[in-house]
Amino acid sequence: MPFASLGLSPALVDAAAASGFTAPTPVQVAAIPVVLKGQDLLACAQTGSGKTAAFALPLLQMLQTEAQQRNTQVLVLVPTRELASQVGEVIILLAQRMAHPIKVAVVYGGVSINPQMMRLRGGADVVVATPGRLLDLVQHNALRLGQVQHLVLDEADRLLDLGFAEELQAVLDLLPERRQNLFFSATFAPPVQALAHSLLREPVRVDIAPTEQTQPDIAQRAIAVDAPRRTQLLKHLVEQHQWSRVLVFVATQYAAEHIAEKLYKAGIYASPFHGGLSQGARTQVLQEFKDERWQVVVTTDLAARGIDIAQLPAVVNYDLPRSTDDYTHRIGRTGRAGESGVAVSFVTAESEAHFRLIEKRQNLSLPRETVAGFEPTEPPVQDKGEGNGGIKGKRPSKKDKLRAAAALAAGTTGTAGTPKD
Ligand code: AMP
Repeated sequence: MPFASLGLSPALVDAAAASGFTAPTPVQVAAIPVVLKGQDLLACAQTGSGKTAAFALPLLQMLQTEAQQRNTQVLVLVPTRELASQVGEVIILLAQRMAHPIKVAVVYGGVSINPQMMRLRGGADVVVATPGRLLDLVQHNALRLGQVQHLVLDEADRLLDLGFAEELQAVLDLLPERRQNLFFSATFAPPVQALAHSLLREPVRVDIAPTEQTQPDIAQRAIAVDAPRRTQLLKHLVEQHQWSRVLVFVATQYAAEHIAEKLYKAGIYASPFHGGLSQGARTQVLQEFKDERWQVVVTTDLAARGIDIAQLPAVVNYDLPRSTDDYTHRIGRTGRAGESGVAVSFVTAESEAHFRLIEKRQNLSLPRETVAGFEPTEPPVQDKGEGNGGIKGKRPSKKDKLRAAAALAAGTTGTAGTPKD
């Protein structure tokens, strides 16, 4: 199905084509006509499904027909600065061929407010914002929200996860009663459902079940290696596979700096990316990574969510993530938008029990591969009996406890960290 048959104008169909979107993704097919009709939308769609264009294209079309007074008709609320920049970029790109220029302002916290106030001078048609900074700007009289006609909550579940509930309510209180609401979320836990229920009026629900097209094609691998040899192994893999770009996850900012520096000294273009860098430096690293000026970016979980780098062929868990959710988010950085990708986890003697927990919760069972020249020599570490392999926020289940008790009675050391049965 072509974009044109969804009711989009030729300028927007052209803009989509110029962005490399030849055919709409399932969420776009389902959402675009609903948004164009002015209805509220409740969309459950996977990361990488093309959600941003699913709301940006029809909203731009509606702006095209509405008078442009730079009085913020579209407000997009997002949980993080990175997502704000990314969504803003997509909207600016798609708006490029419109007959009347659309002014887009992207605002988020953690950076100086003044340039954002300057940008908002004279108004903006579309504002993409994180909630806290948006409220600051309203307090500074830098923008008014009384004319908003279309509200988008992007990654609503994460807005709540990150503790934005109060700010969100304060923003909602500033909006006109009559408006269109578009609600996007990957998950629908009870607080997300409650928010959707309070916000939406007779929404059309769009559930994009993972299909061949949207199911990420990610090959997951686990390589057993001694902890001190991981940097060498990483270098070896980067060279062997000739990955054009690799996102490497580590546990600390220090490790990100240290490993990036070691790789750089070994002749691989590697840069750190973490919350200790200034916002300017972070934006620059991401842009340079997208432009393929860095081959490797070594990062903390800061980059695990919401960052979209098209055609990222590989993700490496140098240090394992603490939680299974983080594992999902990390590996989800590759295999996006129909591309295939590989996610490699380094498993050391120390982290073996923890990885087994991740596998169990992911319903996975990966063979432990070894790479010639990097065969592990460290003896297996006895499970310390913490019961959950150190995994964050998860307690051993009743079944785990029963199993552990049974194992103890049988005189073994089995706990929740024992292999899958
Ligand atoms: P999103 O879910 O909005 O983060 O989009 C994920 C990725 O899909 C981004 O890299 C988009 O550029 C890409 N994308 C969005 N729509 C399409 C489309 N119709 N065809 C191909 N790629 C798309």
